[in-house]
Amino acid sequence: MSTEHVSGGKDRIIIFDTTLRDGEQSPGCSMNIEEKVRMAHLLDEMGVDVIEAGFPIASPGDFEAVQEISRAVKNATIAGLARAKKGDIEASFEAIKDAPKRRIHTFISTSPLHMKYKLQMPPEAVLDAIVESVTFARSLTDDVEWSAEDGSRTEDDFLCQCVEAAIRAGATTINIPDTVGYTTPAEYAAQFEMLRNRVPNIDKAILSVHCHNDLGLGVANSLAGVRAGARQIECTVNGIGERAGNAAMEEVVMAMRTRPDVYPFETGIETTMITRVSRALSAITGFSVQPNKAIVGANAFAHESGIHQDGMLKNAQTYEIMTPESVGLKKSELVMGKHSGRHAFRDKLKQLGYELGDNAIEDAFARFKRLADKKKQVFDDDIMALVDDEILRIGDKIKFVSLQVVAGSTGPQSAELTLEVEGGTKSARAEGNGPVDAIFKAIRAICPHEEARLLLYQVHAITGGTDAQAEVTVRLEENGKTVNGQGADPDTLVASCRAYLHALNKLMVKRERRAPDESL
Ligand SMILES: [Zn+2]
Repeated sequence: MSTEHVSGGKDRIIIFDTTLRDGEQSPGCSMNIEEKVRMAHLLDEMGVDVIEAGFPIASPGDFEAVQEISRAVKNATIAGLARAKKGDIEASFEAIKDAPKRRIHTFISTSPLHMKYKLQMPPEAVLDAIVESVTFARSLTDDVEWSAEDGSRTEDDFLCQCVEAAIRAGATTINIPDTVGYTTPAEYAAQFEMLRNRVPNIDKAILSVHCHNDLGLGVANSLAGVRAGARQIECTVNGIGERAGNAAMEEVVMAMRTRPDVYPFETGIETTMITRVSRALSAITGFSVQPNKAIVGANAFAHESGIHQDGMLKNAQTYEIMTPESVGLKKSELVMGKHSGRHAFRDKLKQLGYELGDNAIEDAFARFKRLADKKKQVFDDDIMALVDDEILRIGDKIKFVSLQVVAGSTGPQSAELTLEVEGGTKSARAEGNGPVDAIFKAIRAICPHEEARLLLYQVHAITGGTDAQAEVTVRLEENGKTVNGQGADPDTLVASCRAYLHALNKLMVKRERRAPDESL
């Protein structure tokens, strides 16, 4: 497979999204299978070239997720991660084999530190393992990526030997990860130039960057690598990932789009989907984006200071280097009221990019009517929050039915709660130190979960005004496993209850986690 064939030209950058593998691996970002498939559809729709769907050997849940995604996705290549072990590579292939386009991504550490302490293997044995693993992977599929874990801290001579051997064994993509987020732009670029100058068969493979953001340099390092000849960027939506995260997809893509004079490259990404995909990921994981985050933060396109506003009114370009429309950010407009019918609601959902089954539409419509009764103006953002909330709950074993709360300064605060638990109705009344505490105690009374600890309770307003819907995030931890729950409702206390239930439902989905040191 030639370079031109895969990349579609020397200036075309392959976007390799690892939100579902490297991103999902970070604490608090775990997703269930349905959530992963939903994200994979969105990534495919936005034009991601390669979706790294998971690490199939890590757990049966990971395997199943990669398999489901391979069967669901139409356009993107699906990659499955594998260590340099026969069993890993077999599991990876087994999981991706139904995908129309599939890639085995295998890796091993090459830095002196990792080889000595993590692998406890001499360099010669590592080199043998590379040849063996790539050869085996290539016998299963003709699209094989090989990664040098901790590549940025690997000695030049040894890295050249490894890369040359991997390409000779059949690797079609060579990735040099900055696993620990240590490199700098000039240094990383020099490493790619060094490889291109010294490895004799280097033109037989596509070079790839994979950068972590420990020093805030993930995006800068990725772009430096591309300028030095890399043609694949590994990245995640919202920059999620272990520790400080990975290079953010929206940032590398918009940097190339906004500064073609410096980065004369193209991607296949439909940038107008960026905002929607970013929000979908936040809603699924409960990881909201900081307001000043580039491209997708709430303030990223808010030019609010007086001086800026004056300039903006005269000519938007005075302070705006990209338009909000280019990333799919639309002004939140008044869309519907309480007289809007089912048909208009259905059209609105379609326009916002949701495809729901009839039952889900009915449930969402009923909630929309209740919302429109309470709130004069219903905005796009309100509808998105409501529908996201509805989608989150599909398949839940514990469901919200009703809640009455006594709050105020004279106390005691109490909650009377009814839930549907696996088909039957259960109620409880509890007093607490404040209404939220009372609600959470009532949930515990109905569904005991003594091991779980509450790590985070956070409230956001979705739109402006005192009648805005509240979006609540709750993070629970049980035996080292962390889950996030989200809930939206015009009543903050109902939203709190829904968020807690969402997290509790996720906790009940048992999942094996992989060993934490196995990552790129
Ligand atoms: Zn990584």
